Amino acid sequence: MSLENLSFKGGYHMHDFKEIANNCPIEEGPVPAIVEIALHQHIGAPCLPLVEKGDVVKVGQKIGEAKATISAPVHASVSGTVLEIKEITTVAGFKTKAVVIENDGRNELGYEEKNDDYTLLSAEEIISRVREAGVVGLGGAGFPTSVKLQTHPGEKIEEIIINGAECEPFLTSDQVSMETYPEKVVTGCLIAMQAMEAAKGYIGIEDNKPNAIDAVKNACANVPNVEVAVLKTKYPQGDQKRIVQAITNKVIPSGVHGTAIGVQVFNASTAIAITDAVVYGKPLYEKVVTMTGSAITLPKNIRVKLGTPLIEMLEFCNGFKEEPGKIIVGGPMMGESQFSVVSPSVKTMGGVIVLNKEQAQEKPVSPCIKCGKCVHICPVGLEPLFLQSYSLNGLLEEAEKNHIMECIECGTCSYVCPANRPLVESIKNGKRLIRATQKAR
Ligand code: SF4
Ligand code: SF4
Repeated sequence: MSLENLSFKGGYHMHDFKEIANNCPIEEGPVPAIVEIALHQHIGAPCLPLVEKGDVVKVGQKIGEAKATISAPVHASVSGTVLEIKEITTVAGFKTKAVVIENDGRNELGYEEKNDDYTLLSAEEIISRVREAGVVGLGGAGFPTSVKLQTHPGEKIEEIIINGAECEPFLTSDQVSMETYPEKVVTGCLIAMQAMEAAKGYIGIEDNKPNAIDAVKNACANVPNVEVAVLKTKYPQGDQKRIVQAITNKVIPSGVHGTAIGVQVFNASTAIAITDAVVYGKPLYEKVVTMTGSAITLPKNIRVKLGTPLIEMLEFCNGFKEEPGKIIVGGPMMGESQFSVVSPSVKTMGGVIVLNKEQAQEKPVSPCIKCGKCVHICPVGLEPLFLQSYSLNGLLEEAEKNHIMECIECGTCSYVCPANRPLVESIKNGKRLIRATQKAR
């Protein structure tokens, strides 16, 4: 089977703006005087604080405990003194508690550095190390990785896919991480294969990242059962169902996870974090973030200590070269627009995009001209124009019958619509209303 030029039905090849930051090597980011470590940086239950005001902490020390099954602990990213535990607003717009630490600048480590042979570890030991290190999906989802590494009775995992598609325009943090740490990507894949007893591993990378493809191909040249799968550059190639279909030709049925058909997927930066956790004993307290966009002065890929305020990350890039029109955390298609720059960095932050006024300007909305473009490109095979109409008119049953809940909220329909109709926004709202109705039943 050829592992070149792989793709899926639908989607759209848009200008990717990767050229702004894709040649910027990873740089150490700002040294914050104060960090705010959110106790809820993942899907699942928030952590409970393990420290209180006045406690002295070290880098990598666990400061938030995950009690629930679906949760992940958090760790100090600097050494210093806990000033307080306070409520903050995250970059995703919700409120959570955060541990505020004053950095003493000593950078003292609070964990034991290792260099272990992962092949000697059992699945339980691997899962336990990944959980203790607080590893979550770094592609933006934030689902606890230790939970994804567990196989369930009756499931047989055949393939692990490491998702290096990074299909959102502008973002380059996965790309530069794969170029810098290709061996860790491959080792992360092998660790996941060992934990899940999977025979085969694929590392899927879009063809707009030739250096990452070469680096990872070299890293797995002598590794049996792990191969690079080269994907056509097309949005949303990084969506779990799309990448599984493109690489394995398997279709994940509606309402189930990939594990039901023998496939599990981890993001490329998550694979690196798995290696750091299992082999080197390093908790997830820092991550690579792309600082990019038309209005940023110096685009960069920076390694950021979690809890660093957004404003310090922007200042580290010399701020704005023109008045910004919009600041987005995440990709431009699925990221979150920011209303302030005070929120701290979190595990799921892949990039910060500063658009100028012209790029950020909302375009005037006009009536649907029934061109069918949104239907043609929908990767799920939905009819976004009708789903929007059902949502706007409160026809929720009709929307459900037409599979609105299958929408992956990729935003491609809104992007291609010549009438600039806010299709995905209406669909998201329709889904919210349906969920609320279901809860009330
Ligand atoms: S946002 Fe939903 S409806 Fe629109 S293209 Fe993506 S999956 Fe299809
Ligand atoms: S792309 Fe826009 S104008 Fe064309 S059919 Fe869809 S909603 Fe209507």
